Amino acid sequence: MASDAAGRRQVGGEVEIAERSGMEWDPETMRALAYRVVDLVVDRWAGLGQGPAWQGADRSETEPLLREPPPDAPRPAEDVIRRAVTDVLPLAGRIDHPRFFAFVPSSPTWPTVLADLLASGYNVFQGTWLESAGPSQVELVVTDWFRDWLGMPPSAGGLLTSGGSAANLLATVAARESAGNPAGATVYLSDQGHSSVVRAARIAGIDPDGIRRVPTGPDFALDTDALRQAIRHDRGAGRTPLLVVANGGATNTGVVDPLADIGAIARDEGAWFHVDAAYGGFAVLDPSVAGSFRGIEEADSVTLDPHKWLFQTYETGCLLVRDVTGLEAVFRVMPEYLQDTALGFEHVNFGDRGLQLSREFRALRVWMSIQMLGLDAFRAAIAHSNDLARRAEAYVREAADLELLSPASLGVVCYRYRPRGPVDAEALDALNEAVQDRVVETGRAMISSTRLRGAYALRLCIMNYRSTWDDVRETLGMVQAAGRGLTA
Ligand SMILES: *Cc1c(COP(=O)(O)O)cnc(C)c1O
Repeated sequence: MASDAAGRRQVGGEVEIAERSGMEWDPETMRALAYRVVDLVVDRWAGLGQGPAWQGADRSETEPLLREPPPDAPRPAEDVIRRAVTDVLPLAGRIDHPRFFAFVPSSPTWPTVLADLLASGYNVFQGTWLESAGPSQVELVVTDWFRDWLGMPPSAGGLLTSGGSAANLLATVAARESAGNPAGATVYLSDQGHSSVVRAARIAGIDPDGIRRVPTGPDFALDTDALRQAIRHDRGAGRTPLLVVANGGATNTGVVDPLADIGAIARDEGAWFHVDAAYGGFAVLDPSVAGSFRGIEEADSVTLDPHKWLFQTYETGCLLVRDVTGLEAVFRVMPEYLQDTALGFEHVNFGDRGLQLSREFRALRVWMSIQMLGLDAFRAAIAHSNDLARRAEAYVREAADLELLSPASLGVVCYRYRPRGPVDAEALDALNEAVQDRVVETGRAMISSTRLRGAYALRLCIMNYRSTWDDVRETLGMVQAAGRGLTA
């Protein structure tokens, strides 16, 4: 329908004044504000290493800053943007800061951020082929790249998800449905398995008695004899072993479970074999550690988190399954109002492979960043992280006042400050907690902790392409200085 510049439309020969919604902006305003935002983001990136690695705030500070009813009338856009970058966005961890070594960091690349803007601006609905043929083809290409990196067969495929938690949930439901939803279904994971697997089992309706934490050996890898025993015991008690979950990089230690052996046990028992490689899986791109993933290619399903070690923005997760047609059999539900979207198996409706119908176009991030940077850059960045972690391990081993608690594995090293002379376990835990607080308070580096066999452990997780050996060494030096200061 034709309309003139003033928004008057021709309706049945009469001129009607169209009410403007107030939602549309003229192109020049759009451009100016977008350029402003780009400048702010680029300035943040350029100054990232100079600022603090972390900035927190108490609720008592954030409430007065931001609590208010929604304004009925518009406020100047410049003011709102300024408020966002002053009162909101800085009160957070700089997770991509070169000395942010806490938890599992994420450091997206610039092409990935550009892809986010493009995908939002083009308003892609990535649920059905009918509504997004090009984007669906890209998601097929990207998930097939991942499949090939892991060595999974051509029958395998999957989808991008909001993250590893979502992927673990979909895998659990796929396992349950494929087994015909048996009574007494039981899920096995190691005592180092990720909490999201337990949550997935809970959501999937596995009763609490059906979640088995299998012990790990001294190397923090799942003990396969204990797994066999647990399964035997459960069968004897009339339970059905449904799903065995192995770590492809445990969050605490980076340890990869013996995947080939665990896969063989699962197969013998008729259980689904899932590998939670959320944070670690992309390390298959580094030949120095790829061998530890032997057996992942036999998995029924694998969780990957491109928003961790493939340098993508949140929320980019992935589930791959060995038999992708089976995945669609589990999740596909075809209502009348979507009948137009059934274009045959070749034309994948990604909404049929998981939970979400309305889906954002996550694959564009991965596709654009790999196209623009080349896969070699990703290989080098992952190998660099593994190198830094090995150097950190060597540094800890050599330092008289540091103790190694778990060796470098997929970018993770656990250690603690340990003064000379005898210290009891409780005092050592308290000392290390205080050391961590001191380091974090400086803002110079962000570190976090975990517990290994009950002991308080400081943990470095090194996976930012910006981090240098100087960043790692300085952070370890800060830990030593804090320890000396607290014991002097
Ligand atoms: C991060 C992680 C998860 C959870 O993934 P989200 O993307 O945070 O939902 C699950 N398992 C492992 C091993 C992880 O590292």
